Amino acid sequence: MKQPLIVANWKMNGSELLLRDLVRAFEHQGPDLAAQVVLTLPAPFFSLARALLESGEISWGGQNIHWQDEGAFTGEISAPMIAAMGGTHCIVGHSERRQGWAETDQVVASKAQACLRADITPIVCVGERLEERQQDKTMEVVKRQLEAVITNLAPALLEKIVVAYEPVWAIGTGQEATPEMAQEVHSSLKKLLGTQCLQSPPVLYGGSVKADNVAALLAMDDVDGVLVGGASLVTEEFVRLCAYAGEQAKNNSNG
Ligand code: PEP
Repeated sequence: MKQPLIVANWKMNGSELLLRDLVRAFEHQGPDLAAQVVLTLPAPFFSLARALLESGEISWGGQNIHWQDEGAFTGEISAPMIAAMGGTHCIVGHSERRQGWAETDQVVASKAQACLRADITPIVCVGERLEERQQDKTMEVVKRQLEAVITNLAPALLEKIVVAYEPVWAIGTGQEATPEMAQEVHSSLKKLLGTQCLQSPPVLYGGSVKADNVAALLAMDDVDGVLVGGASLVTEEFVRLCAYAGEQAKNNSNG
């Protein structure tokens, strides 16, 4: 059975209390969670994550890094810093960074490379804005964003990334893409990835994912997991979402 990957993106939210609460809730849930869970956290919570998630059943990581490994970049953190603390993943190219910090495709590609140099997994976000979808430019946009990252990656490195398709109009709006819309884009992204490596990296869907819609998304052939913002900040909702994701994975492998 292929375990779905569930990535929580807390953005600039949460607290140590929430992290403790979430970890405790997963412990109560028991060991048969058939999903792989990664919490991407604000940097001030990294130490606590290292202490609480030491067993490695749940992984953790960052939401952004600088593309350099070290230097005079006040306020930034680097991929080697996350790796040194035991973090395993980092989001790069989230639409909030592309829009709010003017991150270009090239910057996102450099950040993905920084993650790979530090041996952590970049979760590379791509996604179209509403007007781009309305102008029928979805595929053009997401392929351009992904190509910028994968063009110069050797197949062995490409297989180490995770891709997240996040339509910008679906993030934090409660208006998720339908499973069929997600499948259509994922299938194109996987074809593109497949031109450069044998084993396509996982492609996650993100945008208003909740416990109630996760199973339908994961029932799609090319949806390998989900990236979850708002619903990862409510312990009961997130634990339920992960449990439903695990159940769907079992259904997929039985069917
Ligand atoms: C996100 O921030 O990546 C995200 C998908 O947010 P939400 O689930 O709240 O739409």
